[in-house]
Amino acid sequence: MKYWRKYHPTIGTDDPRYHQVSLIYSVLLIMLIYFGLIGLLNITLFDAADIAIYDFSGFVLAAAIYFYVSRGGNFKVAGWIVTLTLVFVLLAFIHLAEGRNYSLLWVTILPPIAFFLLGPTAGTWVTGLVFAYCGWFLYKLLGLGVPGNLSLGALFNFVEVATAQVFLFRYYERSRREAYEQLQKTSTTDPLTGIFNRLHIDNSLKSLLASSKRDLKPTSILLLDVDHFKRINDEYGHIAGDKVLVAIGSVMKETTREGDLVGRWGGEEFLIICPDTDGDKAANIANRIVERLNKQPLLDDINATVSIGIATASGRDKKDTVETLLQTADKNLYKAKADGRNTVVASYDDIALTSAHSTT
Ligand code: GH3
Ligand code: MG
Ligand code: MG
Repeated sequence: MKYWRKYHPTIGTDDPRYHQVSLIYSVLLIMLIYFGLIGLLNITLFDAADIAIYDFSGFVLAAAIYFYVSRGGNFKVAGWIVTLTLVFVLLAFIHLAEGRNYSLLWVTILPPIAFFLLGPTAGTWVTGLVFAYCGWFLYKLLGLGVPGNLSLGALFNFVEVATAQVFLFRYYERSRREAYEQLQKTSTTDPLTGIFNRLHIDNSLKSLLASSKRDLKPTSILLLDVDHFKRINDEYGHIAGDKVLVAIGSVMKETTREGDLVGRWGGEEFLIICPDTDGDKAANIANRIVERLNKQPLLDDINATVSIGIATASGRDKKDTVETLLQTADKNLYKAKADGRNTVVASYDDIALTSAHSTT
């Protein structure tokens, strides 16, 4: 099971492209078996080495795409090569069979593969062009009077089915993508504040710490806790309390950079992940948040402040884990609370970094 899951070094089972990569592998496997076997039969039983050359070329191409994808190659490029190879094989087969034995039916396997791998727009172009070509081929066969059961009615039927297939698969692929995006959004977003939820921020921290170690670049995290939030709830009510949380979410988004991830960690606790950020830079970001909250009331007349604990992984220390990083940030957050709240504590100097100490 594990082997089958390792299709691509960076596309895991929870990645939306996982099923696309697995489809590429399935098509490649069929191509390898088909070209390998037919090639062997052609040089042994049928004495047709000239045709076997095409089969073995297909075999080598399929093997090359396999190595390309399994070594982390661009799966979009692989999707295009697989689809175009399939188009070539289908058209070659239809030509060789000269439309006999309903061989044209084979083009109907193209839309599910082309739309799934290339998306609605490119899928429409590829299947549309191939279907148009097949329609023309069928028309030409009629004109040439090739014997068989082809008729004008058959041509009309083909054109109608082909058109229906393109539109239906386009519709299906569009709604599949939209549904996926919607699911992705709701499963990663905190419903109250609209920032990332804990699940997403947890998963992101894991992968960002791994790439921080790979690239030997630092990663910092900021753990924020609203000061005396219970008092805000008690004084203004829970609805106002909720609005304060939403406003703090906006302040964090405005104060951080685009690549930083801002999430709600728990009730009135937030976590910000800053990739490629050392302790100094993280302290600057944290101080900006603290200062912004001290400068003006969040909502009408409600003031809220936060305490922030920072932890930084240098990227060079193999011992740094998600757990140790969170423990350090948590310890520093407690220290910030003990230091009088409305302040920032980072582990590298253990000193409250901001001068703002207007604790309520
Ligand atoms: P401290 O400065 O020590 O952090 O004090 P605090 O009052 O913020 O800490 P405490 O943990 O005692 O209280 C947190 C409060 O946050 C309690 C809880 O009712 C409130 N809270 C948690 N989640 C939500 C929420 O989603 N909405 C609202 N309005 N309140 C929440
Ligand atoms: Mg708390
Ligand atoms: Mg609190």
